[in-house]
Amino acid sequence: MEIIDSPRAMTAWSDRTRAAGRTICLVPTMGFLHDGHLALMRRAREMAGKVVVSLFVNPMQFGPAEDLARYPRAFERDAELVGAEGVAVLFAPTAEEMYPAGFQTRVVVSGLTDTLCGLSRPGHFDGVTTVVAKLFHLVKPHLAVFGQKDFQQLAIIKKMVIDLNWDVGIIAHPIVRERDGLAMSSRNSYLEPAERRKALCLYNSLQLGRKMVAGGERDGHRVREEVQQYIVSCGDVDIDYVAVVDAETLADCRTINDRSLLALAVKIGRTRLIDNTLLAG
Ligand code: AMP
Repeated sequence: MEIIDSPRAMTAWSDRTRAAGRTICLVPTMGFLHDGHLALMRRAREMAGKVVVSLFVNPMQFGPAEDLARYPRAFERDAELVGAEGVAVLFAPTAEEMYPAGFQTRVVVSGLTDTLCGLSRPGHFDGVTTVVAKLFHLVKPHLAVFGQKDFQQLAIIKKMVIDLNWDVGIIAHPIVRERDGLAMSSRNSYLEPAERRKALCLYNSLQLGRKMVAGGERDGHRVREEVQQYIVSCGDVDIDYVAVVDAETLADCRTINDRSLLALAVKIGRTRLIDNTLLAG
């Protein structure tokens, strides 16, 4: 596996690889890799001859009061994990190379960014779309894999690609969970043991929502209310949102259908966790 840190060298590699007729699949990450990330890489390997994994903790997507400085990092370990997945290139640029002095551009998707995580993390998705746009230009992938754990990010990137006529196929990968159901996340490493136990209330609340729908409930607002009450009853948690939305448009979903997604963001101690599930099927 090649480790590339210079954007220019990345593009040169991609030009050569495309000229040789190979398909490139990109898996963007912020590192501190877990099995969820590795599952995305395996999916990428199935889809394309050459896989590029980017590792970049993108300052533009963190708010001033967020965890950029303490975001977990483990470059050597990550490089070993990526190397074992048959990945062709680990692209790990510095913030200075990605955002040189004088950088002034933002790629903004409107509408989809004004709800859910966008409300409590203003500017976050502009940082995401800007860095993904840059990665797409530098890596020139035919395909890119994103996790459904970040369902809003996925919907926004799909929209960006459609709106900008971008010739990149977006592949969605299901959420990978710990054995007890907690969605894997680099931020789980922040959790103290008691918080880790409490964090299970997110998964349990999603299961409650699915059970309601399996039992015949079709009112999205009733599902939301009960799920919210359940989370409150777990105590010592701070709900950012509980929502039942259309998985693509993110519009409020009054009547449950095949695309209805139960999504939540909850703070356990100082750690903000997100999770979601389709309600039917
Ligand atoms: P991150 O490093 O947290 O920015 O995540 C990089 C990519 O991995 C994103 O597309 C995430 O949606 C995806 N991802 C993170 N955690 C999981 C998970 N538990 N299951 C599936 N995909 C995930």
